[in-house]
Amino acid sequence: MLMSQGARADANLHAAAASATTLSTGDGPPMLEVRDATHRYGDVTALDNVTVTAAPGEFLTILGESGSGKTTLLRIISGLERPSQIGALRIAGQDVLDVPPSLRNCTTVFQSYALFPHMSVGENVAYGLKVRGVAPDERRERALQALALVRLVGKDDRRIHQLSGGERQRVALARALVTRPAILLLDEPLGALDEKLRLDMQVELLHLHHQLGMTFVYITHSQEEALTMSGRVILMRRGRIAQAGPPRDLFDRPVSRFVAEFMGVDNIFEGKVEALHGDRASVRVGDELIGGIWADSRPPQIGETVTVGVRAERVRLGMPPVVDGDPANAVPARPIEAIYKGKYLDQTLDSALGLIRVRIWDGDEAKGAADRLWWRTSDCMVMRV
Ligand code: ADP
Ligand code: MG
Repeated sequence: MLMSQGARADANLHAAAASATTLSTGDGPPMLEVRDATHRYGDVTALDNVTVTAAPGEFLTILGESGSGKTTLLRIISGLERPSQIGALRIAGQDVLDVPPSLRNCTTVFQSYALFPHMSVGENVAYGLKVRGVAPDERRERALQALALVRLVGKDDRRIHQLSGGERQRVALARALVTRPAILLLDEPLGALDEKLRLDMQVELLHLHHQLGMTFVYITHSQEEALTMSGRVILMRRGRIAQAGPPRDLFDRPVSRFVAEFMGVDNIFEGKVEALHGDRASVRVGDELIGGIWADSRPPQIGETVTVGVRAERVRLGMPPVVDGDPANAVPARPIEAIYKGKYLDQTLDSALGLIRVRIWDGDEAKGAADRLWWRTSDCMVMRV
């Protein structure tokens, strides 16, 4: 039976990735283990005692604004940078601190593609195999397989300048996949692409990850991209981990004001903790007592100044429902302005807490009395300042 080029490429690469993962499934070691890594460039501490692990086959995203230390972390994993201090660096259980980059079983895809302009597409993809001493026939065969995986069948004789930005990024991806690494490191790989292409490539990368079963470590500064793509997100701030967890945790249960603002929580106030019951906290904000959920594992002190947050789409106009096992927060309010956004209406109201943004998806609700606002305590986040 004839397999299509794409299917054959999938099967081969899949087998390679599977053999890499079987080394460490079950109770085995994580595929990636970075323990207590610190890195300084002169006076700048780019990475401050960071620990990151990734399970075999995981899609892990490192999220953070520019300068937060993401690339430094990736360069340490790939071996392009030697950390100032580190507890351990292991790939598939093997200590790789003294292993040169080319032998580390991980490859990096950069935003800038870093392709060789004087080589054809096929030669670019096969380059890593040539360096590793793979014979010409096998090189060509495997390069074609990798190109099929990224949907560039028939483009192997092209020159790099004859390709679009999206195609170049696919070549860079094929070049990284061709050596069948256990871990694929991606440093803002879609950053140079326009919006539409970026969304398409996000989906393609997810498909590739699914097919290949490799461990992906994906860097981005876009919270939207991190939420779409990953099984787990690590949010970095100034060389440290601000929060790590499933996308939903960072979105709904931020542990600090920084994380909440980064994840786009619209309404944020300060208050003092008045009572605590398990993860439920009552917080005095001005004259109001607001109930919410405390997400961090370390509980706050009574009297501690904390941040209270709620997303605009979780705030409702009018009276809270009477029958509700989860008593709602309710405050009197006065409409200030409403901005029509097509799919929804963004309304700003003044309240005893300050200005509150409300997002109304159903146009009819906007006609209701806007002299009172309410939101569930389960939608209310209580966090460190
Ligand atoms: P990110 O990838 O999140 O933008 P980086 O890891 O590139 O962050 O940088 C982290 C910090 O280290 C920044 O303050 C940056 O200016 C600094 N830095 C990065 N590379 C170097 C370098 N080669 N020399 C000096 N400082 C650097
Ligand atoms: Mg960077």
